[in-house]
Amino acid sequence: KLTTEQFRESLLKAAAQIEAHKDELTDLDREIGDGDHGINMSRGFQAVQKELEAHGEYEDLGDLSKQVGMTLIKTVGGASGPLYGTAFVKFAGAFKGKKEVEGQELAQAFVEATEGIKMRGKSEFGQKTMVDIWTPFHEALSKEADLNAALEQALRDTKERVATKGRASYFGDATVGVQDPGSLSSALLLQEIVEVLH
Ligand code: ADP
Ligand code: MG
Ligand code: MG
Repeated sequence: KLTTEQFRESLLKAAAQIEAHKDELTDLDREIGDGDHGINMSRGFQAVQKELEAHGEYEDLGDLSKQVGMTLIKTVGGASGPLYGTAFVKFAGAFKGKKEVEGQELAQAFVEATEGIKMRGKSEFGQKTMVDIWTPFHEALSKEADLNAALEQALRDTKERVATKGRASYFGDATVGVQDPGSLSSALLLQEIVEVLH
């Protein structure tokens, strides 16, 4: 079950995790991108943190998701900003007017968020992007499988793939064995959501 207050708490924790991994995210993006993913994500999640702290309690999961989505779109930038923003705008639609969500309804919200990312990025599973994390995550949610195990496996799998989408695709075979920065940041976010679901 995910309540509005738990979701808010998980986003504050995710902001702290992004901050703690800022240099790692940037270093990975320096290897197979343009070296700004940590900076982009830090800027975005610091803005989210500030807003969540200033706002206090939210009416429902939809309101919270909508504000986070708008903030990420405004502040993250790069390829990843609109993608993360779209995920939260999709959550806003799925969670509209709901103070808490569980089971298949919760899984469906993550399916919609992932579909939003894929549509916005014109991307699909297996291209070594954040989609490689979001897809197995919603599958594990739907099947009620171990979510942390699914995220860890997804991170291992995407690391070994060749990037065929986004900036990393220009690095071709050199991307094999290097973690995709957007996959790592997605796992950091989703891991914190898992923590509050317990
Ligand atoms: P930019 O590439 O514009 O500098 P970032 O460095 O912030 O943007 O984000 C890069 C991350 O975004 C990648 O690691 C990848 O996970 C994700 N990404 C990039 N392009 C796409 C896409 N078309 N679809 C899905 N994810 C993508
Ligand atoms: Mg980049
Ligand atoms: Mg960039």
